[in-house]
Amino acid sequence: MARIRHETTCQAGSVAVTVRRWRRREKLPVIHEDNLVPLLTKLGLYEAVLAGDVRCSFCETEVTVANLRGLYRHGESVKLFCDNPECVWAGLHSENPT
Ligand SMILES: [Zn+2]
Repeated sequence: MARIRHETTCQAGSVAVTVRRWRRREKLPVIHEDNLVPLLTKLGLYEAVLAGDVRCSFCETEVTVANLRGLYRHGESVKLFCDNPECVWAGLHSENPT
């Protein structure tokens, strides 16, 4: 557990930058894998992913740490999507939902 906390602390700076950019631009870019765990933890989603409670917003596949490709903001909620090419394409084009 101490090692996980240490890693989270080391990533805190980049996570803060990502969240600020997210609020300003109302979207999140596709997240590089190295930033996913601390970012998910920050958003309170990591436990849900580990528990299998999160599904891809496009294909309904269960999202895991292994297949999670990225996330984006939709209104007040955060949507996650898997590494299915169709879902990645949809995620990349979901930055301006109408
Ligand atoms: Zn998917």
